[in-house]
Amino acid sequence: MKIESFICGAWHHTSTNESKLINPVSAEVIASASGDGIDSAKALAYSREVGGSNLRVMGYSDRALLLKKIAEVLIENRDRYNHISLENSGCTVGDAAFDVDGGIGTLKYYASLGKRLGEQAYLVEGPGEQLTRDENFRAIHILTPLQGVAVHINAFNFPSWGMWEKVAVSLLAGVPCLVKPATSTCLLSYEMVKDVVAQGILPAGALSLLCGGGRDLMDHLTSDDVVAFTGSADTANILRSNSNVIAKNVRFAVEADSLNSCILGLDVKKDDAEFSFFIKEVVRELSVKAGQKCTAIRRVIIPKGMKKDVVEALKARLGTILIGDPRDENVRMGPLVNDAQKTAAEEGLAKLVTEAEVVIGEENANFAEGVEQGSFFAPRILLCDQPLLAKKIHEIEVFGPVATIMTYETNVQAYQIGAMGGGSLVCSIFTSDDEFAQEAALKLAPYHGRVLIVNEEIGKGHSGHGVVMPQSIHGGPGRAGGGEELGGLRGLYFYHRRSAIQASAKRVQSILDNGLALNA
Ligand code: NAP
Repeated sequence: MKIESFICGAWHHTSTNESKLINPVSAEVIASASGDGIDSAKALAYSREVGGSNLRVMGYSDRALLLKKIAEVLIENRDRYNHISLENSGCTVGDAAFDVDGGIGTLKYYASLGKRLGEQAYLVEGPGEQLTRDENFRAIHILTPLQGVAVHINAFNFPSWGMWEKVAVSLLAGVPCLVKPATSTCLLSYEMVKDVVAQGILPAGALSLLCGGGRDLMDHLTSDDVVAFTGSADTANILRSNSNVIAKNVRFAVEADSLNSCILGLDVKKDDAEFSFFIKEVVRELSVKAGQKCTAIRRVIIPKGMKKDVVEALKARLGTILIGDPRDENVRMGPLVNDAQKTAAEEGLAKLVTEAEVVIGEENANFAEGVEQGSFFAPRILLCDQPLLAKKIHEIEVFGPVATIMTYETNVQAYQIGAMGGGSLVCSIFTSDDEFAQEAALKLAPYHGRVLIVNEEIGKGHSGHGVVMPQSIHGGPGRAGGGEELGGLRGLYFYHRRSAIQASAKRVQSILDNGLALNA
């Protein structure tokens, strides 16, 4: 199959410099994509001029309706998308749902949030302040939708959710988007956008898709545009240091890789409910999408005295997970997305073992038959008893089913180890000690975009360490990229420009009255 790009309102495909998309179970080629011959400057200008003006004549609630209609199209075709996830990403049924339903759920969430907003054209922050002795002279702040295009560059692991979580907020804000999915798994993004375009839901220019190529996109951005990037820290650094991006001060958000952690409290013992929730969560994070999640647990921080219990419990649980072809309904973990990712995981692991020993290795993995061809990778658990003296285990993200246990003796040490990730997307804490829960949340929050605190009360009801909920922000400081997405209506800020308006009280009041007060 030839994957096309939707640019300037038309579908394009070229047959030169094609990248091959493969099935990671069989290594069979299933599709190809090429961005050759696409004029990025023209594509961006079309989105900006045609898409931007079409979207900005609508109000927030009208645009929310577009999101609802997109979600409806996707729901109708959900089974086909799940099948594509299986073919192109080696996803199990659960993995596919995570990505496909995650995208649909986020669209529906923003559709319903946006429905409650009005037909206004801008956001306001009131009530404003008096600026001089003249009490008639006041200032307020307003937020107007950006006049440019939002370039969304996505990682290979979430071709659905990664695309729609950005598109939903951008379109609601009134900013057209040009999506560049990761080439290796862009088949799903392509099929989804093709279905949405075929239904004629969106105004011209609102959504463009560039599959393959896109290497010169940064060169053609203007100061009205934004980039929302998800992927590795290395690529993020290359793109945001592009000379045009710097010269034009292009707003640039990065969601990058992260050495997320979970902490078992000093109070938790083997028979406590919190212990079993903790083990369940670590295993889930290793096995869902074969550990290829930006939010996955990479560092397992436990009290020194719990080493034996934790290793034994993880070993038992991991040993029951059948790894193999996701078409087998008993299989609970699929392959990595391709051989390049498998090689990268092996290389990363080789670096980690210079600082930590493998305590659960390949011999514990439960492989189904017929995994020889595919990019399968056995879960590995490593152990480091001196995490405060180590470096690589806090820096190297193995993008697969690999985590390192790190032991601690005092709460202060646990916080230090958590912070050694250099800024992470998420940290989860398992404890029944209220005082520790409160202190840990506050000590770890400055280094994390999200902190999940689990005790028996929410052991079964929480959304999960690795699950990004649209109500909460997604992103993290430092190493994690410094970006912030979602978080309900907070997500709209990225796609708006905030300006101070200084005028007479009457004029300020009129601007306030005609805008939409945003209570995130
Ligand atoms: P990647 O290699 O950095 O690629 C990310 C995206 O950048 C892809 O669409 C890629 O396109 C594109 N790209 C690469 N070079 C480019 C260039 N010169 N110009 C324009 N675009 C370029 O990352 P990945 O391997 O797809 O994803 C895995 C990484 O993403 C992991 O490190 C993971 O932690 C991170 N991730 C983070 C989050 C988060 O929300 N924080 C979510 C998911 C994944 P091509 O595919 O065409 O090369």
